[in-house]
Amino acid sequence: MVSQPELQNLHEAKIKIVSSNGDNNGTNRTNDHISNLNSNSTNGDVINLDHGDPKMFYPYWKQLDNECSVTIKASDLISYLANPNEPDFFFQMPEFNDAVRRIHRVVGNAVTDGRYIIGGTGSSQLFIAALRALASTMKETTSSKHVPVVCVEPFYSAYKEAVEQERSEIYKWKGDANRFEEQSGPYIEVVTSPNNPDGVCRKPVVKREGGMVLYDLAYYWPHYTPIISPADYDVMLFTLSKATGHAGSRVGWAIVKDQEIAKKMKQQILGMSIGSCQEGQLRATKILHFIADKYKHAAHYMVEKPLKVPKLFEVEGLFEFGQRILARRWEQLRTVVQRIGVIRLPEFSPGICSFSGKLTYPTPAFAWLECQTGEDAEQFMRNLKIQARNGSRFGNNIPGRYMRLSMMGDDHNFNLFLERLSSLSIME
Ligand code: PMP
Repeated sequence: MVSQPELQNLHEAKIKIVSSNGDNNGTNRTNDHISNLNSNSTNGDVINLDHGDPKMFYPYWKQLDNECSVTIKASDLISYLANPNEPDFFFQMPEFNDAVRRIHRVVGNAVTDGRYIIGGTGSSQLFIAALRALASTMKETTSSKHVPVVCVEPFYSAYKEAVEQERSEIYKWKGDANRFEEQSGPYIEVVTSPNNPDGVCRKPVVKREGGMVLYDLAYYWPHYTPIISPADYDVMLFTLSKATGHAGSRVGWAIVKDQEIAKKMKQQILGMSIGSCQEGQLRATKILHFIADKYKHAAHYMVEKPLKVPKLFEVEGLFEFGQRILARRWEQLRTVVQRIGVIRLPEFSPGICSFSGKLTYPTPAFAWLECQTGEDAEQFMRNLKIQARNGSRFGNNIPGRYMRLSMMGDDHNFNLFLERLSSLSIME
């Protein structure tokens, strides 16, 4: 989900790309250009680790450009109807549903059997669609004006911003779930697990009659956290952005148990955007099947007899790649942080990952840092020309000495960031 300030950052980045390439007609803005631009950035530039742009996945997919591409002809996907057999759900491709179900079966991170799969323009759109569907269902049996929406602090900053931007007549942002005092009546608790910004695996805290829980499982993938068991909740949100790194395709999906809630969510997607982009669904289908195929050939996923591994699948698995990059970055960051001594990082306990069968430490997509000098953390980083997101954006009660830094950017920026952070210990 991209908030207003994030949009501004992305917009500025784009302007920079256009001017640096002299490409004013905007026809040449590929990832290669973005990557090249970053590699060329000089030591004086501000390093932007504010938004969670998953560019760490770029080298992985670059090696598969030929094998894992989708060709879309000029005459393809003309119709609004991707599936004329389902009049109330015509915008969703059945093959996209199949790919989503398959990847969850392979990874074992969510139950999809007997559940409805609803695609959206990123999980950002589905977040709003789910809130509208849940709140309108609750409003049928209550006289309260607004259904409160709560989430434990620190929470993903875009939730509050998105809900407030909605100015909904049926639900309202009420902040920290731990401070939610209404003893009766409906409510929606958003549970993000692992959590953005702090990487903690969470459970609901309000836990009383009349409430519904919306699970955002954007980071419940083996590269970020050990998979403990398949998630099996009423409404769960996932996104391609964090699963595979294809944030630009703007593909997300909801897994929904209840038929009525699913129906309402479909109506919302229909009303908001007459469905979701078929090019995106097609690309997601290809990529998700590629990953699932890869694991079909991986040793630990062989059920009975080993399969001959086609050359194409000799590449490292996406989840091993992601976990390896993040684990290395976390280790490097911990080493620097320990040396400079003025910043604290959270500690995580390992768990047995049912997907890999190994004991693994969480390697979250963001680092949630505390500045122990008591200073405003964002300012502290800005002095090093590092753009981080201030803790106060993640809840009214989170002090400014906290900050969030993305661990998902490209290598070049991450290494520059470590270099600048290390310079603190040299200065002392
Ligand atoms: N939920 C969480 C917890 C996120 O961190 C993000 C992306 N930053 C999203 C949802 C939105 O993802 P999408 O790109 O699918 O809109």
